[in-house]
Amino acid sequence: ILARGRDVCRRNGLLILSVLSVTVGCLLGFFLRTRHLSPQEISYFQFPGELLMRILKMLILPLVVSSLMSGLASLDAKTSSRLGILTVAYYLWTTFMAVIVGIVMVSIIHPGSAAQKETTEHSGKPIVSSADPLLDLIRNMFPANLVEATFKQYRTKTTPVVKSPKVAPEEAPPRRILIYGVQEENGSRVQNFALDLTPPPEVIYKSEPGTSDGMNVLGIVIFSATMGIMLGRMGDSGAPLVNFCQCLNESVMKIVAVAVWYFPFGIVFLIAGKILEMDNPTTVGKKLGFYAVTVVCGLVVHGLFILPLLYFFITKKNPIVFIRGILQALLIALATSSSSATLPITFKCLLENNHIDRRIARFVLPVGATINMDGTALYEAVAAIFIAQVNNYDLDFGQVITISITATAASIGAAGIPQAGLVTMVIVLTSVGLPTDDITLIIAVDWALDRFRTMINVLGDALAAGIMAHVCRKDFTQDTGTEKLPPCET
Ligand code: ASP
Repeated sequence: ILARGRDVCRRNGLLILSVLSVTVGCLLGFFLRTRHLSPQEISYFQFPGELLMRILKMLILPLVVSSLMSGLASLDAKTSSRLGILTVAYYLWTTFMAVIVGIVMVSIIHPGSAAQKETTEHSGKPIVSSADPLLDLIRNMFPANLVEATFKQYRTKTTPVVKSPKVAPEEAPPRRILIYGVQEENGSRVQNFALDLTPPPEVIYKSEPGTSDGMNVLGIVIFSATMGIMLGRMGDSGAPLVNFCQCLNESVMKIVAVAVWYFPFGIVFLIAGKILEMDNPTTVGKKLGFYAVTVVCGLVVHGLFILPLLYFFITKKNPIVFIRGILQALLIALATSSSSATLPITFKCLLENNHIDRRIARFVLPVGATINMDGTALYEAVAAIFIAQVNNYDLDFGQVITISITATAASIGAAGIPQAGLVTMVIVLTSVGLPTDDITLIIAVDWALDRFRTMINVLGDALAAGIMAHVCRKDFTQDTGTEKLPPCET
């Protein structure tokens, strides 16, 4: 038994360390909350976790560029277009299924009735029209400056502009209307008072295209994929650049193989640091508990039943074995809340544990980390309907369909970074006329839900790679000829 135990530990050492680190991180975080650390102490405490995030983010750019360029260049035109169409169709289909699961869950649990507002009126007005995030999505697909795309993305900025009330020239003045008076009680003056009847200034919101910090992964994916396809068509004249990308890809994976040994240590501080920062869980629990439970139930149904069943029916293979192979990536997703940052580990798990053809992984994973976010789509649909329920707003069938379509679009537009889904939710809310200000209702629990939905996003990408490897296995039985380097051994 001892020998077997040693063998299991040797083969799954990193995974066991990662599971332990999540547990230790939670326990340490809750213990240190009782010590009331100062904000500065907390920020020092979070430093090892910050390093983990920096290492992962450092690897995203070379990994996405090299994997897409070398992956697509090594496929012939027929294979790459078949793989591309099948992958994108599968991504859209599963995202839409996630939205449906979310809508069913939120309709059954009806979390909004637990936190209903007294008024039935819509408060607040949309601060951004739904067209703005959609235009940003398209702008991000075509970055004007590739260097800038590595650290900035397009995001429309909305600024409030205060306009003084309009007064027709013949009516002017007055601009300011004040009424003074004296209030008397039992014949004696008790207080002077003044009433200001000046019409309140009108506040309008001005939206203009701008940029915000954060890599424009979508733009980089589109550029690298196009370059990869073109390089593949260039034949021998494109070989030097293809070789360069393959070398870059292999070397990034070797860095990942070394860096993973630091990750369990970083995870402890990342998780404990977040627990130290969070609001008091009991106050959050009362108000938003039902909403959070609805999102988590939806994610569990989609991630543990629907996607694995789909994998089983298509490939006839055991999904549990597959999921066990990517457990480490799921833990990193839980710790970092970022599917882009998890990408290097997802690659490593798929190649080493699940033996997925690397030409498939090189295409399916970076594209998936950018556009395939089942967890985010599900959460956006639940959150929008929850906000409608809170406002006593009855959605008709057409509006539910609108929510399903816009939640799918909003998840495609969300970057694979922490809480990106919260930003693109504006698209969903404005599409059915719900108050965008009510996003503030769900912010308190969003950091936690983000971790779970990121796990499902990563799971969806990995299972997609497994399914594509099965569906396209005939196209990949042998090397298509342009793979110049010896196989990766990481
Ligand atoms: N954090 C998510 C991800 O990286 C995106 C989101 O839903 O906010 O996949």
